[in-house]
Amino acid sequence: MAESSTKKSIAVLGAGASGLYFLNYFKNIASGDYSITVYEKLSSCGKKLTVTGNGKCNFTNLKLKQNNYDECFNLYNLNNEKGELLENVFKSHSVDNIIEFLDSIGLPSYEKDGYVYPLCNQARVFRDILYSNIDFSHVVIKENCEVIDISYDNNKYKIKSTEGTDAFDYVVCALGSPAYYQDNKNDIKNIFKNLDINILDFHPSLLPIKAIGVDGFLENTSGVRTYSTLKLFINKKLIHKEEGELQLTKDYFSGIVAFNINSYVSKYFSCAGSKDGIYIEIDFLPSYTEDKLKIEIENRKTNFSKNKTDELLYGLLNDKLAQEIIHISGNNTDGIIKNIKHFMIVPVQNNNFKNAQSSIGGVDILEIDNKTLESKKYKNLFFAGECIDIDGLCGGYNLSFAFASSAVIAKSVVSSTASKM
Ligand SMILES: Cc1cc2nc3c(=O)[nH]c(=O)nc-3n(C[C@H](O)[C@H](O)[C@H](O)COP(=O)(O)OP(=O)(O)OC[C@H]3O[C@@H](n4cnc5c(N)ncnc54)[C@H](O)[C@@H]3O)c2cc1C
Repeated sequence: MAESSTKKSIAVLGAGASGLYFLNYFKNIASGDYSITVYEKLSSCGKKLTVTGNGKCNFTNLKLKQNNYDECFNLYNLNNEKGELLENVFKSHSVDNIIEFLDSIGLPSYEKDGYVYPLCNQARVFRDILYSNIDFSHVVIKENCEVIDISYDNNKYKIKSTEGTDAFDYVVCALGSPAYYQDNKNDIKNIFKNLDINILDFHPSLLPIKAIGVDGFLENTSGVRTYSTLKLFINKKLIHKEEGELQLTKDYFSGIVAFNINSYVSKYFSCAGSKDGIYIEIDFLPSYTEDKLKIEIENRKTNFSKNKTDELLYGLLNDKLAQEIIHISGNNTDGIIKNIKHFMIVPVQNNNFKNAQSSIGGVDILEIDNKTLESKKYKNLFFAGECIDIDGLCGGYNLSFAFASSAVIAKSVVSSTASKM
């Protein structure tokens, strides 16, 4: 048979975490002849990867389990198919497989409390190694090249980009989401408008909490970092609890604890169709019970100079926060305790994609075969990573899904090409 009839052409749309991992993993397992064209709209591949994990790239987590993703899909009566897809993906390519594969290409790692990072602690180097390990004898990367449209005709996919139109046998869609970039001019919805695929609106997910009526509080405490517990309530029911460092900024409640709580808030606003009955309770001093705090404050009131109300909480809390708590509570012990242990905020939707680490929305998982990640309607069209309507909490879960889903697709493409040759 002539070479041209057996050589399979593959288009990879997007060279972020998913696209790069696909190229690396596919190289490892591919057989037969193939050519890959990668479309990347930015000037270099994997730009977002270089800022992950505060520049250290927390790429997976040894404690990964299904409820690190979309835990609330049951709460909001969303479908449970996501659970099945996640189970299949991580059965096919587990956390251990991710760690071992990255080690095999020169990225050994270390683990801290379950969080896994590259040994070099550098997200930039992590990206560089994923890039330099690409098999450039089979792969052409088109940077600064934006995909505009995709159509399907005569068993071929036509990819229209800023550099023209080309036809392919296979398409791996790894276009990510507008999180961080905020640029959704040619987002996946526009690109797929000619194919009959349901794509859900994107909403930013892991991002700081915006709340009403707290402008003065945030202005006065901006810059404070304090170990806290955050509890999210909906209709008086406790939905989710997080404990860790809370960061107060001029406009937001931030830090990993706030991001994770806000993931639930965003889902509530985008999926549940309601905006009422939601509030967050912050405990700024989780190591003290209310009784212990009461005794402490009463002791301080007895022993400290009456002129120094401002200093009543000094040493107990960050001084800026301590002063603000006294400012809003006065000298009343119960009021002070309430504002330290049960500080209530009412969150509002934060639509700032630029501040977000991931998004809700994307390709409806009902469109995707949950074992192969192939479109149910279009053969040889696959979806990987964040462009799928699956999002995880902070902790390495989003990159884990990007990597594992790409490995699943690499295996699906290999088995489908093998069966045809
Ligand atoms: C600040 C920050 C920190 C993070 N830290 C972590 C962390 O520590 N651990 C973790 O697990 N997750 C982290 N994440 C999330 C993680 O980075 C993403 O989940 C992951 O990058 C998703 O991979 P992806 O390949 O699906 O999408 P992306 O990495 O976004 O890649 C998509 C690629 O497609 C390209 N593209 C988009 N549209 C087009 C088009 N029309 N034509 C051509 N190319 C296009 C984009 O330019 C991009 O390169 C973080 C995110 C941010 C923003």
